Amino acid sequence: MEPRFSCTACGKCCHGWLPLTLKDAIAHAGRFPLAMVWTPVRQNARFYQLATRLGATVRLPSRKTVAVLIVPTAYLPTSHPCPELREDGLCGIHDDKPSRCRTMPFYPYREERDQADLLIPRKGWACDVSATAPVVYSNHEIIDRSDFDRERNDLLDQSPVIQRYADYMLKYMPWILDELAKMAARPTGGNIVSSLSSFLTATRRPDAVEIATAQAPLFRAMAEKTRDDPAMREYHRNYSGWAVEMESLARRNPG
Ligand code: SF4
Ligand code: SF4
Repeated sequence: MEPRFSCTACGKCCHGWLPLTLKDAIAHAGRFPLAMVWTPVRQNARFYQLATRLGATVRLPSRKTVAVLIVPTAYLPTSHPCPELREDGLCGIHDDKPSRCRTMPFYPYREERDQADLLIPRKGWACDVSATAPVVYSNHEIIDRSDFDRERNDLLDQSPVIQRYADYMLKYMPWILDELAKMAARPTGGNIVSSLSSFLTATRRPDAVEIATAQAPLFRAMAEKTRDDPAMREYHRNYSGWAVEMESLARRNPG
C-alpha cells in the first residue's frame, strides 16, 4: 500500500528543537532563540555519504573520520511550543514558515529513497494517514518534491560555511573533538550544543550586530521562563549565558 499523509494542523510536532537552514535561521532571528547543534555521523551509518555533503568532515584523534551535522536550531525544550504556534494549533507564520516546517514529514538529511518510515505519525501526533489522505510518496520517490529540494539545496549551499565554522571551533575549542569522538563511539550517539555567537564570530557575518540585537531579548525571555524549573537547568544556563554574549555583541559598532 502506498503511504498517505496529510497534516491536520494538530500542532503536536511544533514543540522542542526545530532544525533550520542557515538562511531560515537568519531570516527568523527575531523569532527563535538559536543554537548550533552538532551531531556526529559514523562512517558505517546509513546516511554517512550524504552527511559528508551536508555537514562538516572531521578527523578524530583516532584518525578516523566522521561527518558532523552542524545545524542552526530553534533551541527550545521538548515541552515548549514554538513561539509561533497559536492557541488554536495553527501556525502564526504559515505563509512565511521555515523550510523545515514546509518539508515535513520528509527530511532532507536522509536520502529520498529512505523516507517511508517518516510518514508514520509519532505517538500523540494527529497526522492523517487514512485511505482518504493523499498519496505523497510512491516507489521511494516524493511526489511533490519542491519543498524537499529547496531545503536540501539550501543545506548543500551552506555546507562550506558550516565547514569553516567547524574548523574554527576545533582550532579554538579542541575539547569538542574529544566529545565528538566519545559520541561517535557510543551506539546511541549524542550531540553538542554550541552558541550562535560563536558562529557569528567564526564566520565574521557582516550582519552579526543586527542578529545579536534580535537574539538577546529572546534569550533573556527564555532564561526567565526556565529560571525556576530544575529540569530546565541546562537550558536556563545556556539562555542566560548567551543573552550576555548577544548583548555584548549587539553593543559593538557594526562598522
Ligand atoms: S513555525 Fe509554524 S509550523 Fe513551524 S514549528 Fe513553528 S508553529 Fe509549527
Ligand atoms: S503532528 Fe502531523 S498533523 Fe500535527 S502539525 Fe505535525 S505534521 Fe501536522
